[in-house]
Amino acid sequence: MSDKSIAAAAEEELRQLAQDWTEPRQGECVLCFVARMLDAWGCDETLRFAERYRVRRAPRASALLRRFEDVGGFCDCEIFLNGYVVVDPFGVGLPACLGVSRGSTQPCGSWTRRVRGR
Ligand SMILES: [Zn+2]
Ligand SMILES: [Zn+2]
Repeated sequence: MSDKSIAAAAEEELRQLAQDWTEPRQGECVLCFVARMLDAWGCDETLRFAERYRVRRAPRASALLRRFEDVGGFCDCEIFLNGYVVVDPFGVGLPACLGVSRGSTQPCGSWTRRVRGR
């Protein structure tokens, strides 16, 4: 194996790792996934993780991003700034995902709609 192919193999492995790392977990809901990704990667001012979830888990849910925009989430972090909060106000860190069924784009029971003006 030449040095070049070793480097290529290492790069491929890294790519694979990043791929797994940004994969929604089994039964994980969209909000827990996006929150987990934001925690690790931050927001790039797009709905990239919401879109990634949609593509990976619910490719036919074309209205998903619009649903977030409707609650003021025009990028991944705004979903949480404007749209949804953790149900448990005393929880520390990210909530444990309570799980959703396959293909569902609903948030799990750890999240609730943020009430404006409170
Ligand atoms: Zn953002
Ligand atoms: Zn969840």
